[in-house]
Amino acid sequence: MDHIVQFDIHIEPARQGTYFTIPFEVPEDIETLTLKYDYDRRPLDQQFLENGRFSARPKKNIIDLGLIGPDGVQVGASGSDKDEITVSEEYATPGYRPCLIVPGEWQVLVGAYKVEPEGTKVSYEVRLEGKSRRLLKGDLHSHTLASDGVHTLEELAFKAKRNGLDFVAVTDHNQLVPKAAMPRLPGVTMIPGVEWTHFNGHANFIGVDQPYDEPFATNTPEEARSRFESAHQRGALITINHPFEPVAPFQFDLQTLPFDCIEIWNGPMRESNLKAVGYWQQLLTAGKKIPACGGSDYHRDTPFIFLGGPTMGVYAESAGASDIVAAVRAGHSFITFAPNGPTLEMTAGEAIMGDSVAWTEVKEMQINVQGLQAGDVLRAVTAKSSEVLFTAPADGDIEITFDMDSPGFVRVELLRAFLPGLPMLPALLSNPIYFDGG
Ligand SMILES: [Zn+2]
Ligand SMILES: [Zn+2]
Repeated sequence: MDHIVQFDIHIEPARQGTYFTIPFEVPEDIETLTLKYDYDRRPLDQQFLENGRFSARPKKNIIDLGLIGPDGVQVGASGSDKDEITVSEEYATPGYRPCLIVPGEWQVLVGAYKVEPEGTKVSYEVRLEGKSRRLLKGDLHSHTLASDGVHTLEELAFKAKRNGLDFVAVTDHNQLVPKAAMPRLPGVTMIPGVEWTHFNGHANFIGVDQPYDEPFATNTPEEARSRFESAHQRGALITINHPFEPVAPFQFDLQTLPFDCIEIWNGPMRESNLKAVGYWQQLLTAGKKIPACGGSDYHRDTPFIFLGGPTMGVYAESAGASDIVAAVRAGHSFITFAPNGPTLEMTAGEAIMGDSVAWTEVKEMQINVQGLQAGDVLRAVTAKSSEVLFTAPADGDIEITFDMDSPGFVRVELLRAFLPGLPMLPALLSNPIYFDGG
């Protein structure tokens, strides 16, 4: 929900040369703050000449603008240069700092630099744009020149934009790039991360600048666990990467490590990914609610590897990195083979992918797939069965319902014949909705 706060103040000439603040309240769930102000900025006087008009340069009033967050820290200051500024987690007007629009008491900083003898009225308007759930596409696994990739951070950001992605997590091997060092390209959320890379397995720690203080290197399972625990405590999203990739399988005991997601789809779909899907299915069948994720593991373009291959489709509450990470952690997502691949909406009552509902209250699930190709096969996978729901007779979209006849999870797979004569492969894999019984 959007909110608009307006207030006028009258500045007496006696306050000329002083600074003061005006507090205003920001409620919860705000994505973007825009602050505008207006006052009598007219030049001192105008002289009308016989053949024209002369405008004097000095202004009648000069009122400076600044913004202070609830923690008392300056978000920015712009003198009297800008009459409107915008701040969000990912973007801010130059001179201001991108930051979360957290609830609490914010303050407008007023600098009464020059005030006319009669005083001046200043009108402020704060526009607070509320968060709202939307589908964002992105890549959770990428490398740059900082490890064995070939692109700079800027090139990666532009490549994400060109490929139609809304976000990209930068996960260089054992190499951290803090958020502040990330390029700010409007429309692309850059998420800091690191691929913790060990001889015995790889895991991404995403969304925090510094998941652990020590060097990455560990020689015992206990030391490895301490890195995971530190990352977990600091709020990193932990993904277990390419667990069955023959060159770098994950060999640590997952029972002993905190983690959030399993990367079931790493780069092009192949046997190691299909094994990961099978392993994930076993965990789900055992009653574990573990979300799946995917990422291209992008290093450079090749005929089969590109940024966004696969793409995560994430239902996030805002375009901010923290909301994207939270949505991935919650399993509010599906994985599709490319940025322009099919998309999926899946709901059961109020629940979306990753959520749980009580089976006694909700038994029906709505599935809406956009971007089907002729021959695509949509199936619902539960602990007990894999049921074909629909085979697309032509290119198009489908809305279909699925009834859960007993408690458990259900997820969907969309299979496609990418190459004639070869077996069908996943074009899209969803996270489950969990129908809790008991
Ligand atoms: Zn790796
Ligand atoms: Zn990697």
